Amino acid sequence: MSAGRLRTISDLGELVGRRVLVRCDFNVPLDDDRITDDLRIRATIPTIDRLSGLGANLVLCSHLGRPKGRVVPELRLDPVAARLAEILGREVTKLDDVVGPAVEETVHSLIPGSMVLLENLRFHPGEEANDAAFAEALASLAHAYVDDAFGAAHRSHASVVGVAGHLPAGAGLLMQREVEVLSKLRDDPEKPFVAILGGAKVSDKLATVDALIDRVDALLVGGAMAFSFLAAAGGEVGRSPVEPDRYEEVRRAVRRADDRGVLIQLPEDMVGAAEPTLEAGRKTVRADAIPRDLMGLDIGPRSVEEFARTIADARTILWNGPMGMFELEPFSAGTRGVARAVAGSNAFTVVGGGDSLAALRMFDLADQIDHLSTGGGASLRFLEGRELPGISVLMTED
Ligand code: ADP
Ligand code: MG
Repeated sequence: MSAGRLRTISDLGELVGRRVLVRCDFNVPLDDDRITDDLRIRATIPTIDRLSGLGANLVLCSHLGRPKGRVVPELRLDPVAARLAEILGREVTKLDDVVGPAVEETVHSLIPGSMVLLENLRFHPGEEANDAAFAEALASLAHAYVDDAFGAAHRSHASVVGVAGHLPAGAGLLMQREVEVLSKLRDDPEKPFVAILGGAKVSDKLATVDALIDRVDALLVGGAMAFSFLAAAGGEVGRSPVEPDRYEEVRRAVRRADDRGVLIQLPEDMVGAAEPTLEAGRKTVRADAIPRDLMGLDIGPRSVEEFARTIADARTILWNGPMGMFELEPFSAGTRGVARAVAGSNAFTVVGGGDSLAALRMFDLADQIDHLSTGGGASLRFLEGRELPGISVLMTED
C-alpha cells in the first residue's frame, strides 16, 4: 500500500481559466443508444460543479464498453454527452476523436467556463496499452488532471495512470469519497461487520471472500456463487451453476472462517425452476437438496428471514452481488428481501457492483443506502487490500 495522502482538487493550485482533463467513469449500461441507468454520470456531477465553480475549462473523458482499440459506432459517447447536458442544464460539446489536430484546435479555443467531452478513450489502442505517446497527447490537452473514475482505478490505462505522470494530478470528489469509505471498511469497520456476497460466479469473488474473512463477523453467501459453497460441502444442487474446480478453495475458505470464528451463512432454501424463464413453474426446495431437474434461481423465503436477522444486528454492512436472477420478476424476491433489510438497517451501509446497484434502483431503495460504490471490480480489489494503480499515482510521496 502506498503511504502518503491522496491528492485532491485542492492540491492543483489556481484553476481559473486553466484546462482540466477530468477522467470520468461514464461506462453506463446502454440499450441501443438509450442509457438505462445514469447513476455513474450523476455521481460525477459534484466534481464537475466544483471544477466549474473554480473557473476551470473542462475536458472530460471516459471509456464505454469494450471497443478494443477500434472505432465502434454504437459505443460513441454522444448519448452520454446528451444526458450530461440535460442533467447540468449546460451545453456539452462532444468531440468525435480522442486526440489529434481537430481535438487540439477545439480544446485550445475553449471559452472560459465551457466543457467538452472527448470520444470513447478505448477507441484508441494506446488507452489500454498505457502507450506513452498516447498518454502524452492526452495530457497535452490540459494544464491539470483530475481522476474521478474510481471504477477504472484498477486498470493501468493511459487515462488512469499515464497522464498523471505529465500533469499535476488529484482525485475528484467521487474518487475521494470512495477511497474514504472503502478505507474505513477495510481498516477500521464498526463491528459487527456483516458482508453479503452474491452474483454470478464464485471464481470472481473468492479473493474477496478470503479478504473479508479477516475483517467481518459474518459473511452471507447467496446468488449463483452459493451453489459452489453448498456443493463443496456435499449438498445436492441439481442443475444449478457450479464451478467444481473451485471447491477446494471454497472448503479452505470455510475452514479458515471457522478457525477465526467468522460465521459463513448459506441459504437454507432456494426457489428452483427447470429453466430461467418467466413461464417456468417455481418450487421452493431445500438448498442442499435441489431435485435433479431443477436449478436454483433465487434464495427462498426462509433464507431471506435468516439473512435479515443477521443483517439487523450489524453496525457495518457491505453488499455486493444479487441473491438470485432478480432481472426476472419470479426470481427477484430474495434480492428484494435482502435489499430491504440492508436499506432498513441503522448500520453504515455500502453497496457495490453494477447489477446490485441496478437491483436497488429497481426496488427504489438506492437513496436509503449510505454509500453506493460505483466501482465493482475496483471496490472489491480495494477491500482485498490490493494496490490500485489509478490511486497510487494520486498519492503524495511521504
Ligand atoms: P454485480 O454486478 O452486482 O457485481 P455480478 O455481476 O457478480 O453482480 O452478478 C450478477 C448476475 O448474477 C445477475 O445477472 C444475476 O442474474 C446473476 N445471478 C444471481 N443469482 C443467480 C442464480 N441463482 N442463477 C443464475 N444467475 C444468477
Ligand atoms: Mg455484474
